[in-house]
Amino acid sequence: MDLELPEELRLLQSSVRKFVDETLAPHEKEVEEKDEISRSLIAAMGESGLFGIGHDEKWGGQGFGKLGYCVAVEQAGRVNASFWNVVGATSGLCGTAIELGGPDAVRERYLPDLFSGKKVGAYALSEPGAGSDAGSLKTQAKRDGDAYVIDGAKTFITNAPIAEVFVIFANTDPSKGNKGITAFVVERGTKGLEIGKNDEKMGLHGSTTAQLYFHSMRVPGSQRVGDEGQGFKIALGTLDMGRLGLAAHSVGIAQRLLDASAQYAKSRVQFGKPIATNQAIQWMLADAATEIHAARLMVYDAAARADKGERITQRAAMAKLFATEMLGRVADNAVQVHGGMGYMRELWVERAYRDARITRIYEGTSEVQRMVIAGALLENT
Ligand SMILES: Cc1cc2nc3c(=O)[nH]c(=O)nc-3n(C[C@H](O)[C@H](O)[C@H](O)COP(=O)(O)OP(=O)(O)OC[C@H]3O[C@@H](n4cnc5c(N)ncnc54)[C@H](O)[C@@H]3O)c2cc1C
Repeated sequence: MDLELPEELRLLQSSVRKFVDETLAPHEKEVEEKDEISRSLIAAMGESGLFGIGHDEKWGGQGFGKLGYCVAVEQAGRVNASFWNVVGATSGLCGTAIELGGPDAVRERYLPDLFSGKKVGAYALSEPGAGSDAGSLKTQAKRDGDAYVIDGAKTFITNAPIAEVFVIFANTDPSKGNKGITAFVVERGTKGLEIGKNDEKMGLHGSTTAQLYFHSMRVPGSQRVGDEGQGFKIALGTLDMGRLGLAAHSVGIAQRLLDASAQYAKSRVQFGKPIATNQAIQWMLADAATEIHAARLMVYDAAARADKGERITQRAAMAKLFATEMLGRVADNAVQVHGGMGYMRELWVERAYRDARITRIYEGTSEVQRMVIAGALLENT
């Protein structure tokens, strides 16, 4: 068992890091202040290949497998988390759902644009009455000839205010419960699609979210992703990859917070010596380093297994649970090590602390991850 990254992925790691440091980092404060990522920066991320890493070259992706995906997402964690949120919702969620569900005609129509960042995507599963219990969604799609007529609403949809392509989930046969759920691709501008206003959030400024409303929205059958009734399976398969990506992102954010905390602790002098000489500070750094290492190994293990074709539902849930809770502790301690400066908007640490909070909520809360983990272990015992 070799836990070293292969040469190809080490090169990928350094090239993504260079792009992130040189092109995205100079804009991270402006993104926070304007609560917006400019189209030119999204285009730059597209040109860098960021949207396609970890996705099949056959559909316009960059290849590198899921391990490469995690290596890249980790590096993207070194800047404002909103940058990755745009990419993650476009390719990691919207693109993966289409990649998993097919058919090829739909893959050909949408994936090259999503995996190159030419079009921004969104993934609309959650509803006002169906969050953790997403399978109970109420949006309905009724067959009408060779089309479907969709009515309902979605909530908290990342990228909705700026997306051109939406994967939405609706029930085509409510009598079958979640086995009646079907996925569709809908384009911005479709008659009957209303996009709500950009939500005001605690953090992740620059990443947009909104409600979607479907008013007798007519969608041709050729826009269906997968078969009728396969939608929930596609949604959950997509979330396995999304959770893995979020875990990798959390590792990257935590690493940056630790690096900054160690540096600050060495330079900040109180009582006549650097605060890093105090055991109380050293233990915070040591705990962070240990937990980041553990989370990274969990992420790489799950990703390598996904690349071998293994189903990673339980491992992705474990990695997401551990990495996001670890990030919460690391971010809290990073503010502590920075003292009053850690609480000031002047420093990015304050923003990272707020941004970190969402990782324990979206793509399944920590409680939902525990349900998934326990469900799998009880089934296999
Ligand atoms: C910024 C942001 C971006 C988002 N982006 C998207 C997106 O792009 N696409 C999308 O589809 N959704 C998105 N979401 C929705 C997100 O996935 C949901 O908010 C999340 O799944 C939780 O659902 P909820 O908010 O309805 O909380 P609820 O399900 O109402 O949960 C409330 C609390 O109850 C707990 N709980 C619920 N059931 C149980 C149980 N059985 N046992 C123990 N505890 C339980 C939860 O863990 C949580 O602590 C986004 C949300 C946010 C805030």
